[in-house]
Amino acid sequence: MRPLILSTYELGHQPHLAALIAGVLKEGQVDYDIVDLSIDPNLDEVFESDQDSHTGEIFIETVVFTVGMLTSAMLFRDVLSHLVKNSGHIKNLIVYGLYANEVANEALGISYEDLTVRTTPTIEEIAQDLGVENTMGKRYLPVRDSLPDLRRYKTVTTSGIDRVTGYTEASVGCRHRCRHCPLPIYFNGKVMVNPVEDILNDIEVQVSAGATHITLGDPDFFNAPIHAMKVARAIKARFDNLTFDCTIKIEHLLKHGRYLEELTELGCIYITSAIESLSDETLTNLAKGHSSSDVNEALQLVDRAGIDFHPSFVPFTPWTKLEDFEDILVFVYQNSMEQTLEPVQLSIKLLVPSNSLLLETPAFSEFKTHYDVETFSYLWRYREPKVESLQNAIVDQVQKSQLCHDNFEDTFFALWSITEEHLGRSIATPIRNKRRADAVKSSEAWFCCAEPTAAQRLRG
Ligand code: SF4
Repeated sequence: MRPLILSTYELGHQPHLAALIAGVLKEGQVDYDIVDLSIDPNLDEVFESDQDSHTGEIFIETVVFTVGMLTSAMLFRDVLSHLVKNSGHIKNLIVYGLYANEVANEALGISYEDLTVRTTPTIEEIAQDLGVENTMGKRYLPVRDSLPDLRRYKTVTTSGIDRVTGYTEASVGCRHRCRHCPLPIYFNGKVMVNPVEDILNDIEVQVSAGATHITLGDPDFFNAPIHAMKVARAIKARFDNLTFDCTIKIEHLLKHGRYLEELTELGCIYITSAIESLSDETLTNLAKGHSSSDVNEALQLVDRAGIDFHPSFVPFTPWTKLEDFEDILVFVYQNSMEQTLEPVQLSIKLLVPSNSLLLETPAFSEFKTHYDVETFSYLWRYREPKVESLQNAIVDQVQKSQLCHDNFEDTFFALWSITEEHLGRSIATPIRNKRRADAVKSSEAWFCCAEPTAAQRLRG
């Protein structure tokens, strides 16, 4: 057995789950192939070595798909259709990740003998599935040496310096139950922390490969704040000049704000925080755990600490009003974020996966229509139909600007004009807030809750 590990997309960084699987196989002295289609997207090349030269049929003994998020699940549809088109046959098909069930349903069109599906596989389960002898409690490090060079992945830029960016996780899972998020469906409030020494060793490998910045990709870095600070202090002690970023929810920024200045000293240069909306009605419906006024308070805390604040939004929900979108534009402008905010953030529509906690709420049920196989999501209608026209115009403009490589600022003001047209009036330009932190730009958009764009689709 020579397993083929296939990853499509992990938010622009080297695929972590694929590297963990490689770690288990390497420890078990099993040879494997690993392909990250976000970097090497040629499916024909990937399957060529497994193709019968006479019949053209593809035969793969074991293939492991990693589908940690919606975008990767949708991209895998392209891989599956390629296998169907090319009479693919797989002996053992293993699908790992939060969207594993959805991808497995789609895999019915291809031929395979055994199917294993795990949404949140443990290391022990990975070892068992791949036939690696495993002693309970054995630790495995991600193995990255067969993945594409780190320099081909996301970079962050600050003060004119581009930083090669690595990725690791201090913890897995999430304590919270935000209704629009797929994590609570599977973790149900559970968080597991990774040993500090393992995290440092994983970072060391990536620093040797050129990383000068690390994304700590925990769903929320402050789910386990004491552990998080231990990790940040240990990073500083071992890699003095390394910078890092992390994701922290508004509620945690307010609750654990006392740590922020220390995080700056330890090398944190930006924090991503899911604002989602500035409408208190929407925030309540999503059970986000913060209000619109909390957002400004959290932003001030982060900025005062000298850390750049990167918001993410889900501007379009069933409850969105035209004025809610206006509020987001004003917030972005007021806080001078229009040059660094990825425009796609302003076009994201609420996705509702199967088993979503939103399906249990009357606030959502009222607008739900049906399950859409194409997007692995329940569709819904707007309470105010004119918002649909705004959203379509915003999506069109963002896609057009992406294709033309327009700068973020120009795109932002194009979206501003579109919104004014829909409102039938101009938007009052707010006074800018003074910001202390240096702006940090990431080369990668935050696509966590978004459908893949046309540019992300694979060739196949
Ligand atoms: S949105 Fe963030 S804080 Fe909320 S459940 Fe998901 S990962 Fe946790």
